Amino acid sequence: MRRDRISMVVAMMSAMFALLGPSLALGQAPDLSKVELRVTKVAGTVYMLDAVTGNAGGNIAASVGADGIVIVDDQYAPLADKIRAALKSITDKPVRFVINTHYHGDHTGGNAIFQKDAPILAQDNVRKRLEAGGEAGNGGTLHKVAPPAPKEALPIITFEHDVTVHLNGEDIRALHFPAGHTDGDSIIYFPQSNVVHMGDDFVTYGFPFIDIDSGGSINGMIDGVEKAVAQLPADVKVIPGHGAVSTLDDVRAYVKMLKETRDVVQKAIDEKKTLAQMQQEKILAPWKKYAGPFISDDVYVETLYNSLTGKMNGKFVKH
Ligand SMILES: [Zn+2]
Repeated sequence: MRRDRISMVVAMMSAMFALLGPSLALGQAPDLSKVELRVTKVAGTVYMLDAVTGNAGGNIAASVGADGIVIVDDQYAPLADKIRAALKSITDKPVRFVINTHYHGDHTGGNAIFQKDAPILAQDNVRKRLEAGGEAGNGGTLHKVAPPAPKEALPIITFEHDVTVHLNGEDIRALHFPAGHTDGDSIIYFPQSNVVHMGDDFVTYGFPFIDIDSGGSINGMIDGVEKAVAQLPADVKVIPGHGAVSTLDDVRAYVKMLKETRDVVQKAIDEKKTLAQMQQEKILAPWKKYAGPFISDDVYVETLYNSLTGKMNGKFVKH
């Protein structure tokens, strides 16, 4: 194995940690002992918890008020004590509900622990995928097996389209958008505070991960994010699945990139180019700044190709 190939594999594996969680990555718990969580007030009742250093899974949103705490996502199980301590620094009140944006382990890893405190709510497919276990990946070279989650980690309340939690003077809306990052994505909107948590349908680390193996698709991601943008106030504060608090303009720039890159790959497919040709020709070179260690330009082209042709792990599937 050449050295650049080894370092690429190492980078991929550490990124899989960041995005899919330890259970999906190497089958062992990562060292999260050095992770420091920080609490940032976003607006109104809503705070964001993320890591000062190191990987600590997806961003957590917390609505804190007279009725207690509603959290969105719960990172990894080994961080549960740190999450609790961070919440305690804001309020002594209990967690009342946990909402999962989707099933990936870096957003649901703490479920079994937090469900001792409060019920977990999620879209139907989150529970199904956690319960069954299965595969995650881009329908090609990015591929991992997710073991089934224990019963305690399964959301005990599920919904098909949307649900509203009325606490803290807030009508917290979980809105399902099908077939984007996965087939169980919800964005969580706090209308009174004017904040939205986008889950992994919007991230700031570059090209997104589209989990085709878990029912995700590029067109679903574009549709979902565009619908969300159309419904949200212009000055809403946006919590991405991963990354810093953003604006709706940041989300618009991201959708623009998704559409442009999709169109370039679709055009190449129409011209009967193979995936290898597209990668060789670096057809996404104008968007190179979005390429990262996990979703490189080659992995992203492959993702778009598989999503647009209906190709998954060597087979053609109907979406
Ligand atoms: Zn995810």
